Amino acid sequence: MVDALHESKGGFIKDGKLILRLNKKVEIKIPERALEWLNKRLAENPDRKTVRVFERRGRLVAQIILHKENIVIPPSNPLLVVVDINSSYGVVVHYWDGKLIKTEKYKPPNRGMKWHSARKLMKLRDNLYNQGCLTQEKINIYSALIRRTLSGSSRSWVQQTVDKIVRRIRRIAKRHKKDPLVLIDIPNDESLRGSVLQRTLLSFVKYFENILSWYGIYWDESRLYSKICPQCGSELDLEMRTKNARIMVCKNCGFKEERDKIPLYWALIKIKLLPNP
Ligand SMILES: [Zn+2]
Repeated sequence: MVDALHESKGGFIKDGKLILRLNKKVEIKIPERALEWLNKRLAENPDRKTVRVFERRGRLVAQIILHKENIVIPPSNPLLVVVDINSSYGVVVHYWDGKLIKTEKYKPPNRGMKWHSARKLMKLRDNLYNQGCLTQEKINIYSALIRRTLSGSSRSWVQQTVDKIVRRIRRIAKRHKKDPLVLIDIPNDESLRGSVLQRTLLSFVKYFENILSWYGIYWDESRLYSKICPQCGSELDLEMRTKNARIMVCKNCGFKEERDKIPLYWALIKIKLLPNP
């Protein structure tokens, strides 16, 4: 069931509660943090507000969906933001305005501890099952517990990191009096396929693009290489590895740069190819 979020319609928010007019009136208290977030977003004037109400495993689920229509054209003289998502570090963000302003790195949380707990739960479940102590219903409870143990932290990492980056983009763009243009290099690593890390990084991309669109920030997905020379297109070789950096060098033309910075060179080439307004 879908209804507009308005006092004269099927659902609305009042005194920190979501009030639904279903067959009978239902009031759901909204958690404080969620309410704070919701109020901020509502103040940003979404075009469409809907509440989706449905039942899942015997529980009533209410989702508040806000939608904003933004038509964004690429700015002609932008603050360039390059977001490089890679398996070895996580997320690297470069800010460029004629020169490199800042580079920031964000690493997804280490799931080692969680895996440890999850494995213990699995072992316990299997032992009990082999001894005939568990019914199918109880096995399902264990499975739910294991899923619970492994979820959560990466989701909140995604949200917090995206919020932090978008806030920074808007702040730096304002300071430089420019509109931001965001280029995102999505992971395409065969070795990552189906892994937890890939799922985290892909959900990062999806949420990030969503929030950028919300604020009317132009973004594009683009392959930004870190192993191909931006000057001549030859393959780069790793020349030196230090604790914090990997220096890549081109045997053909002599180009030399830190590996993490090379996608930025490609981004500068690519924004010249974008359609101009
Ligand atoms: Zn070269």
